[in-house]
Order: sequence, then structure tokens, then C-alpha cells
Amino acid sequence: MAVMKFGGTSVGNARAMQQAIDLVVREKKNGAPLAVLSACSGITNKLVRLAEASGRSALDEALVIAAEVRQHHLTIADELITTPAVKSEVTSKIGEYVSKLEMLARGVDIVGELTERSKDMFFSFGELLSTTVFAAAMKEQGHIAEWIDVRRVMITDDNFGFARPLSEVCEANTSAIIRPLLEAGTIVVTQGYIGATTSGRTTTLGRGGSDFSAALFGAWLGDNAIQIWTDVDGVMTCDPRLVPEARSIRIMTFSEAAELAYLGAKVLHPDTIAPAVEKNIPVYVLNTWHPDAKGTLITDDPERLAGMSYGGLVKSIAVKKGQCIINIRSNRMLGRYGFMTELFGAFSRYGVSIEMISSSEVSVSVTVDDKCFSEELLQDLRALGQVDIEHAVATVSVVGDNLRMAKGVAGRIFSSLRNVNLRMISQGSSEINVGFVVEEMDVNEAVNTLHHEFFSGEETAGIFEKPAGNP
Ligand code: ADP
Ligand code: ASP
Ligand code: MG
Repeated sequence: MAVMKFGGTSVGNARAMQQAIDLVVREKKNGAPLAVLSACSGITNKLVRLAEASGRSALDEALVIAAEVRQHHLTIADELITTPAVKSEVTSKIGEYVSKLEMLARGVDIVGELTERSKDMFFSFGELLSTTVFAAAMKEQGHIAEWIDVRRVMITDDNFGFARPLSEVCEANTSAIIRPLLEAGTIVVTQGYIGATTSGRTTTLGRGGSDFSAALFGAWLGDNAIQIWTDVDGVMTCDPRLVPEARSIRIMTFSEAAELAYLGAKVLHPDTIAPAVEKNIPVYVLNTWHPDAKGTLITDDPERLAGMSYGGLVKSIAVKKGQCIINIRSNRMLGRYGFMTELFGAFSRYGVSIEMISSSEVSVSVTVDDKCFSEELLQDLRALGQVDIEHAVATVSVVGDNLRMAKGVAGRIFSSLRNVNLRMISQGSSEINVGFVVEEMDVNEAVNTLHHEFFSGEETAGIFEKPAGNP
């Protein structure tokens, strides 16, 4: 009884959907799985643009995007489904969803205000549409499968845009609605990322949240595995888009994976690991296009970790672009207390999360997401001291459980980067990461240099594998 999550590229077109269907069917010999799907790749971004256009009364633009969304799903359905009756049923379901989407756009256009609540309603259509086509194709191909509206199961608080599940209710719903179907041998197809409040309002768990949905279902079902199917050979030593030499990591601990996700490795949503840790369920990160490649196993099982013990120091390098450094300098810090409380208070008032921090006696530097930065926050910070801002920087973090005991890692990191201009340095208090900040234009050089330093020796043999590369 596995939970199988397929990301946007794994359901983005008819070929990908067929591949995902084949994987779900292959898994059935171990018991019917729960398939948790994302929206087709690019669709949530389109829905974001559609919502924004409606909010600024650009209704024509919004309706053009709605038509693109409709066409995208009709094309997949057309390529994937052959029986005329099934095709016409799916076509009309797609039509119904897109009509609702257009109605929503018109409503927001008339009111002239786009709320967090209506945004979640807009964004939910991506997953509703992808799962509708997927489930219909499965059934047409003769598989016993049922589509479930996850909003009957994933009940959340009303923090729209970043909703958190009400675990007890969700676990009971999972046992009442999903488990009996799986036990009867029915494959269940449902949506990641979305949920609903107790009063039935649609919510979302935050961008990239389908990984989190899958992990939650894994924990509520007490399953033997959570499988995250994506477009790379598992978690890699660095984002392969930045480092062509990146290798796929065979095994890592929960804390390494959580740290890496939090520090910017997009392959896993940062919240994915917590539910798996709670019930000690292994998480596999696998490549939809290379289902037989080993991918990555994330576990704390000592036997499995010992079987692949690793003498090296670093497991992976994570990068977060789009950051800014805020430096606050004030003599008021010197030998006084309370300054940090005031400083953090300012960030918390504007809901801005601090990513990296480093301090001296008279100054504090923090990094925050460049998009969250506001003039109001700046004004409050200026009341505390002199403020300097540096935009367009990136945090780079080196992660590995072995860093905890290792000597000389910082020396190796920073001497290898002697030609890169480091804007800030920080060691994570978890002791399993060392991070620094560079200008965005220096990211490529910094990560490729570091990667070469830590992943080109023999110490890396066995646990890292050259990815097969996508077809
Ligand atoms: P999905 O749609 O399947 O959820 P994402 O785009 O969210 O996929 O995540 C997969 C992408 O994450 C990869 O294509 C890769 O570019 C990026 N990525 C960033 N860091 C890493 C890493 N350390 N290992 C693997 N992929 C990474
Ligand atoms: N479709 C959502 C997004 O693009 C959720 C996900 O893919 O995980 O953010
Ligand atoms: Mg993702």
C-alpha cells in the first residue's frame, strides 16, 4: 500500500501521464496504491497569472489563460483516451471545471479584489483537472480506480495559501474514505496541494505542497513507503540544472533531507519529511522516466544506513536564489539586551521569515526572500540602526550529517572558494550545514567549484551514482 506522488512534469502531457499510469499499475502487485497528483507542469503558474489578471480587472487576459488551461487538458484527454463515450465524459468534466474558473474570474473582476481565499480557489483547478483526466484514462484502460476529491479528506485550518491539516480529522477521514478502497484493491487517484476548511472552503498547502500531501497520507495510512516520482534520479548532490556533474544520492537521513529541502533543494517540499519521521516511513525519490534507476532512499533505519556507510563529509549542496541581505548596524547592541527582540519583532510584524543570520557586536546581517521585502519593514528597521540592503544574492549551503564531527570542512569550503566574493557566512545551528551568501551572478562558479572539491574523489564511490539522464 504505497503512496505515489507524481509531480507536474510527471503528469504534464499525455506521454508522461501514460508513464505514470503504468507505474501505478506496476505497483499494484504490492497492493493498490494511492496516487497523489500535482497539476500538469506550468498550469499552477498559469492559474496564478489568471487570478492576478482577474484581480486587476484584466478580464480578457484572464479568459485567454482559462482557454489555454482548457485546451491543455483537452489535448491530453484527446491523446490519452480513445473510447468516444469516455472522451466525451472527460471533455464535459473539463468544460465544467473551466466554466467555474471563468465564473470565478468574472466574480473577482466585478468585486475588484483578489483575496487569499479566492486565490486558493483559482489554484485548486490545476490538481482537480489533472486528476480527472488521469483517473478517466486509468479506468478506460481497464484498471479499477476511483477519483476522490481530496477536499473530503484533507481538512485544514483557514490559513489560505499556507493551510495546515487538522491531523486527527484527516487521519479519521483517510481511514473512512481511502483505506477501505485500497484494501478492496481499488487504486485511488487524488489531488496533492489542495484541501478544504471544516466549512468547505478550498485551501492550498503552499506552492510545491503535493509532496507534503503525499507524506501526510503516508503517515495517516501508516504505509510502508512514500514514493515521490519526479523528473530527476532522486535527490542529487546539487541541482543538476546548476551542476551538470551532479550525482544521484542513494541514501540519506531524514535530517539531511529536511535540511536540504529547507535550504532550497526544490526536489522536496520542506514539510515532506516531518510526517514520515513521525511514523518512521521510508521516503523514496524516484525518476518517472527511469523507474528502475535506484533513486534516493530517505530513512533513519540504522541497518540500511550502515549498509551504505559513507566516509565523505558532504552529502549535497543546496542553493536558494532570489534572496537579499539586510545589514543592520547599531551601537545600541553593544553590551545591551533586548536589541535582538526588537529586531526579530520587526520581521515578525511583517510576516517576513529570516533565512540565514550572522552577527557581530555592532551589526547583524540576515537574509530574507527578496520578494517579501517591503518599505514598511525597512522603515521599522531604520528606527533600530543604519540599514544596508544588498539585492539579488543567493544562499549556498553544504549539508551532511558527517559535518557534525568533521574537522577542517570550513577550511576546505572556503579555500576552494578563494576566487568567489562571499557576502556573508553562517554555520547552521543543527551543525549539519555550513552556508554562505554570494551574488547571484557568482552562484554557478561557487557551486561548481564546491561540487568538484567534495564530489570528485574516491571517498564518494558507492553512495553517489551518475544519473542516467532523461530521454
Ligand atoms: P515536481 O514537479 O516533480 O515536484 P520539482 O520541479 O518541484 O518537481 O523538483 C524537481 C527539480 O528540483 C529538478 O528538476 C531539479 O532541477 C531541482 N532540484 C534542485 N535541487 C535538487 C537536488 N539537490 N536534487 C535533485 N533535484 C534538485
Ligand atoms: N501544483 C502546485 C504547484 O505548482 C503544487 C505542486 O506541484 O506540488 O505549486
Ligand atoms: Mg515539487
